[in-house]
Amino acid sequence: MRYISEFRDRALAEKLAKGIAQEADAARDYHFMEFCGGHTHAIFRYGVQDLMPKNVHFVHGPGCPVCVLPVRRLDDAVELAEKHGVILCTYGDMMRVPGTGRRSLIRAKADGADIRMVYSTLDALKIARDNPSRQVVFFAIGFETTTPPTAVAIKMAKAEGLTNFAVFCNHVLTPAAIGHILDSPDFAPGGPARIDGFLGPSHVSAVVGSRPYEVAARRYRKPVVIAGFEPLDVMQSVLMLIRQVNEGRAEVENEYTRVVTRDGNQKAQALVDDVLELRDSFEWRGLGAVPDSALRIRDAYADFDAERRFAVSDKQSREVKSCECPAVLRGVKKPTDCKLFGTVCTPDNPMGACMVSSEGACAAYWSYGRQRQPETAA
Ligand code: SF4
Repeated sequence: MRYISEFRDRALAEKLAKGIAQEADAARDYHFMEFCGGHTHAIFRYGVQDLMPKNVHFVHGPGCPVCVLPVRRLDDAVELAEKHGVILCTYGDMMRVPGTGRRSLIRAKADGADIRMVYSTLDALKIARDNPSRQVVFFAIGFETTTPPTAVAIKMAKAEGLTNFAVFCNHVLTPAAIGHILDSPDFAPGGPARIDGFLGPSHVSAVVGSRPYEVAARRYRKPVVIAGFEPLDVMQSVLMLIRQVNEGRAEVENEYTRVVTRDGNQKAQALVDDVLELRDSFEWRGLGAVPDSALRIRDAYADFDAERRFAVSDKQSREVKSCECPAVLRGVKKPTDCKLFGTVCTPDNPMGACMVSSEGACAAYWSYGRQRQPETAA
């Protein structure tokens, strides 16, 4: 298949693996954070780690939008459906994420709340049109990749004069998170963890371009390579990072040139900017409050803002005890450091978002079997 099979070519992978082994300096270690869960899954699915020399390590980052959503916002969504009686529409991955007391959207749905899985914001708009006597809320999550469809839905609702449609906006931004991670004591000199460079977001960068990462690369002296999601993309990007580290460079380079440009999709950016604006601060699971890291709906579209239309109660939200998702998302622990991994917590019985989401690190470790606990003989 064009643009897929050539990026999974075995002979090329072997050649790249040789190149990486030759250029990696045996006298040092390299720790590269793959920001996106898509990269984590590519690394495990295709066995990329097995092709790396022993001194090249992957640090899994927070780039899973379902995983970084704090429990409080999930609890709020459950409350919107249960207390306010709205039709709550959301993407499939959110349905099984455990909230406080392991209450998920799918459990709330089983108890009678009207919660519907949708594939796009347009599905949610259709539900609003088809149910004029009901309030419909789209539970919007995601990085910059999914902000344009949310902005489009809000603009369409306004143009159509839909009065029963609103968005619960939880969109988060990647560049601020990268800076926040590098500012944390975890990655300070002498701290428990280390990052020598980043495999930068790919789909996100198709929208925002590679330019937004230049500030972090300069300020923190950490190279960033925008990397595609195929195995050869990841390997080529690792080679580019190794070269930068060896040469003492800290630049933003773009491996994913077939999709990403320096300035990104400016039409999509303008659309988003018209509808959404920066929040002062937003809480991320694992990272805590991150300044300038999320978007909210502008005043001009306030009628479509679920946070302004529906008051949610103050509540004490809690992670599942012993779930290490926050530390996994910060890159300071691996899923296998969690004592619940593969024992109490599995995809059939998830204790945290990282085991539910198709981009979660725990799901990657589990799905591709490389870190699964051996089954006990009957
Ligand atoms: Fe949380 Fe389960 Fe991952 Fe442990 S294995 S960190 S409980 S999601």
